[in-house]
Amino acid sequence: MLHVDVITLFPEMIEGAANYGVLGQALKSDLLKISTHTPREFAEDRHRTVDDRPFGGGDGMIMLAETLEKSLNKVKHKNSRVIYMSPQGSVLTAQKSRELAQQEHLVILCGRYGGVDQRILNKYVDEEITIGDYVISGGELGALVVIDAVSRFIPGVLGHADSADKDSFSEGLLEHPNFTRPRQWQEQEVPEVLLSGNHKLIEEWKVKVSALVTMKKRPDLFKDYLNKENEDYKALKKKKTGPPLEELQKFWNNLSPQDKESLGLTDFTEDDFHG
Ligand code: SAH
Repeated sequence: MLHVDVITLFPEMIEGAANYGVLGQALKSDLLKISTHTPREFAEDRHRTVDDRPFGGGDGMIMLAETLEKSLNKVKHKNSRVIYMSPQGSVLTAQKSRELAQQEHLVILCGRYGGVDQRILNKYVDEEITIGDYVISGGELGALVVIDAVSRFIPGVLGHADSADKDSFSEGLLEHPNFTRPRQWQEQEVPEVLLSGNHKLIEEWKVKVSALVTMKKRPDLFKDYLNKENEDYKALKKKKTGPPLEELQKFWNNLSPQDKESLGLTDFTEDDFHG
């Protein structure tokens, strides 16, 4: 079981949001445990102060090192990984989420206001994680994003053992489009292959469609996918037979106009396959 301790001024934000869907289920089935702690419990003055003005001036109050340290000491042990949610961190990825899912204990520190005293970061934080290149007003939403993304990689959390590995990003590609009943909705039909019952054919088709979708929507990701040199990746590619560009172009040319339409893949040009 992965245990996550969240240090936050707004515990209700975490507790409220974690109880739904896949995350709520993971909590119920004891695959994941989330506890919250507020530095306020360690504030000793009448106002329960947890922040103060920044030295040197500037906007925004800064969270005090002292009360944060007491919260950290309450939860931290020798196998804890301490994360600070921060716009200055490295961006959360599927790979990072998978790695964190293998930890035994995560401590996530959420900032508020202008952030936290740098000295608490120096002394306790193993890594800073951002959820993207923008600033939000507190670490709680970020912590929830991390917990949600990480929990999907805990064995047993998703129904099918390997669902998380088939989601977008896991193998460097975005997921293929999905369809459910009815077979025909207004003018749009479900691609014929998906109705064939030929699982091997369907799997190959999905990988190729994934590659095309990624080329179209995230050329940056697709380029990385083609260039990745590390061994893991080669092994994956072997398993999934990462389609070379010429093969992809042929595949696209052979898709029926109707399939292209249904898949949202109408507008490829020669250049897309040679860039
Ligand atoms: N003055 C800080 C931002 C403070 S925002 C700076 O410019 O770096 C207040 C808190 O929100 C931060 O302490 C952090 O915990 C959280 N936060 C803001 N943006 C975030 C992001 N992109 N990812 C994760 N946490 C974020």
